[in-house]
Amino acid sequence: MARVVVVFDFDKTIIDCDSDNWVVDELGATELFNQLLPTMPWNSLMDRTMRELHSQGKTIEEIAASLKRAPLHSQIITAIKLAYSLGCDLRIVSDANLFFIETILKHHGLIDYFSEINTNPSLVDEDGKLRIFPYHDFTCAPHGCDLCPPNMCKGIIMERIRSSILKEGKKQFIYLGDGNGDYCPSRQLGDEDYVMPRKNFPLWELIFTNSLVIKAEVHEWSNGEELERVLLYLIKTVVIEDDTYLCSIDLQVSNYTNIFT
Ligand SMILES: [Mg+2]
Ligand SMILES: [Zn+2]
Repeated sequence: MARVVVVFDFDKTIIDCDSDNWVVDELGATELFNQLLPTMPWNSLMDRTMRELHSQGKTIEEIAASLKRAPLHSQIITAIKLAYSLGCDLRIVSDANLFFIETILKHHGLIDYFSEINTNPSLVDEDGKLRIFPYHDFTCAPHGCDLCPPNMCKGIIMERIRSSILKEGKKQFIYLGDGNGDYCPSRQLGDEDYVMPRKNFPLWELIFTNSLVIKAEVHEWSNGEELERVLLYLIKTVVIEDDTYLCSIDLQVSNYTNIFT
C-alpha cells in the first residue's frame, strides 16, 4: 500500500497554462468570455461559453484538438511516471473539468498513473455540446468555505481524501499547486506533510504571507525541471526510513539528493 500520496492541481501545475483560458483563447471566444466574466461564476461561464462555441459550429473534436496542444513540460511527464514507479498514490484535485483533464492526460499517456481525478463533472450531450457542471451543487448545498469559489472547495476534497486514506495507516501527503484555490487544501496538511507551491504564483504568496497556518513543510518550484527534482527529493525524504522503499529509490533518485545541500 502506498505510503506517499501525491495530490496535484492540474492547471499551471501539471500543464503550463490554464486549460479553461487555453480553450477559450484557441477557439476565439476570449471577448465573449471577458464580457460575461463579471456577471456569473467562472465554472458557470465555462458551460455558457461551450454552448456559445457549439452554436458557432465549433465541434467537440476541435475542443479536444486544442487541449492536445496545451503545453506540458516533458520533465513533469517524467516526474509523474517516476513517482508512480516509486509506489506513490497519485491524485488530481482540479477546478478545470473532467473532459479537459482526461483529454490531455490520455493524449500524453498519463491517465493510468492517477488513482483519482477530483474535478468539475462534464459530459458531451446528444447535440455534441460540452456541458460543464459545478463539483458542489452551490444552489442547493453551498459548501460554506469562504476561501473557495462556490463550485469547488478543494479543502473539503482533501479532507475526504485524508480521512479515507489515513484509516489505512501512516501516510504522508505531498500537495502541488499554484493558485488561490490550492490554499484551502494546503491548510489541511499536517506537520509531516509537504506542500509544493509554484514560486511567485498566488498559492506561494498566500503561504508566505500566512505561514503560521501552514503546518506542512514548504518546498517551492518554478518550472517542470524543478518540479521533477523537488518532488523526487521529497519522495525520497518521506520514505527514507522505510526499508522496503529504500533500495529502489536510492538507485533512481541518487541524482537528486544533493540539490539542497
Ligand atoms: Mg492551478
Ligand atoms: Zn475551501
